[in-house]
Amino acid sequence: TIRTRFAPSPTGMLHIGGVRTALFSWLYARRAHGVFILRVEDTDRERSTEEATQVILDGMRWLGLDADEGPFYQSRRMDRYREVITQFLQAGHAYRCYCTKEELEAMRAEQLAAKQKPRYDGTCRHRNEPRAGVDPVIRFRNPSEGAVIVEDAIHGRVAFANSELDDLIIARSDGSPTYNFCVVVDDMDMRVTHVIRGDDHLNNTPRQINMLKALGAPPPMYAHVPMILGADGAKLSKRHGAVSVLQYREEGYLPEALLNYLVRLGWSHGDQEIFSMQEMIDLFDIEDVNKSASAFNPDKLLWLNQQHIMRSTPEHLAVHLKPQLAALGVTVSDDAKLAAVAGAQQERAKTLKEMAQNSVFFFREPQGYDEKAAKKNLTPDSGATLEALHAKLSGITEWTAAAAHEAVNEVASQLGVGMGKVAQPLRVAVSGTSVSPPIDVTLEVLGREAVLSRIERALE
Ligand code: GLU
Repeated sequence: TIRTRFAPSPTGMLHIGGVRTALFSWLYARRAHGVFILRVEDTDRERSTEEATQVILDGMRWLGLDADEGPFYQSRRMDRYREVITQFLQAGHAYRCYCTKEELEAMRAEQLAAKQKPRYDGTCRHRNEPRAGVDPVIRFRNPSEGAVIVEDAIHGRVAFANSELDDLIIARSDGSPTYNFCVVVDDMDMRVTHVIRGDDHLNNTPRQINMLKALGAPPPMYAHVPMILGADGAKLSKRHGAVSVLQYREEGYLPEALLNYLVRLGWSHGDQEIFSMQEMIDLFDIEDVNKSASAFNPDKLLWLNQQHIMRSTPEHLAVHLKPQLAALGVTVSDDAKLAAVAGAQQERAKTLKEMAQNSVFFFREPQGYDEKAAKKNLTPDSGATLEALHAKLSGITEWTAAAAHEAVNEVASQLGVGMGKVAQPLRVAVSGTSVSPPIDVTLEVLGREAVLSRIERALE
């Protein structure tokens, strides 16, 4: 069984770079009917926050990137890490290092002076006696010869000489295990077969492979995903939209639109731009991901969002529209009406936030009229039009868009004016603005009572 994992560190807010890695891991597992694991790498107690962990959990739920196993938390696995450290010490794969900070600094200075790459020289590899007054760290005894070959699914073959890798600290002097070591123990225990992660981790991979070998565990396959850059080519930062993934929810993006955008960054399938979740699962392959970094393009994301809104079912949109309306103080209990509103609006909104703003009037009587719209359309002349409309609409026996359409048409010919001359004052009267879905649909969804009472109010 293929087993992948997403292993974020809750030290900063989960942003689209992390989401892309998560998506790739999730898609890879889903396509292979494998297992997707969520693991929160919170060993850095100082920098990890509850808030960032919550963003990971909420973000993954919102995106629908459901985990089959987990969430696991490294902070709850300390006993297990200690156990493996002991095992390593006993087998001679690790040793206690009593070198002091001063000694390490002197070593570093000497190596730099000799134009060598600074690295731990292995002094304590052969030390048999503890040193009084020094709390030792524990180092992994890295092989000194040979090379580690990483067959990366994206970068191809990458070789690292063991002589370039020094003896990594796996436990600090206070006994706490270090990051690279915990990843190794977890990937082994969780039987991860494919490690898909950011390519900032490529240099950790040979060390991790050496430790896995020492543990007798088969190394997984690796795929190091290139970074996402800002549109200006610089590292993605807040300024470019490297904000918490939940901000995209707030701004009214559909999760599938965001995922569609991210899957297309560095991956393509012919010239297809729009992918449903199922198509992504069926078509995506990590081997096809481009190894150069891609630039984030917010306009394209917005365009895709609009495309997905247009293609969604009204019921699906309703689920995501509801919290947007709630944010505007509108609590909706009638789900059928909400779906009808979403259906009426889906051709004319780039985001669900915008859709919600333009839909409040369906649920709440407008507080007033848009000034420009009223000035143009609610004139002394329009009084007669609205009165005629009120009379005609009151007579409808079955309240449908078709009946409303006919009524508006009849009033127009009765008054000898075009349909727009009638529809526009009506639109302003019922919605408070001059933009809404087609008037007949608007009237149907609003319902007879609201329509008639709003016309009456406009006539006051
Ligand atoms: N925790 C690491 C990060 O957030 C990922 C490590 C990994 O996937 O191996 O960058």
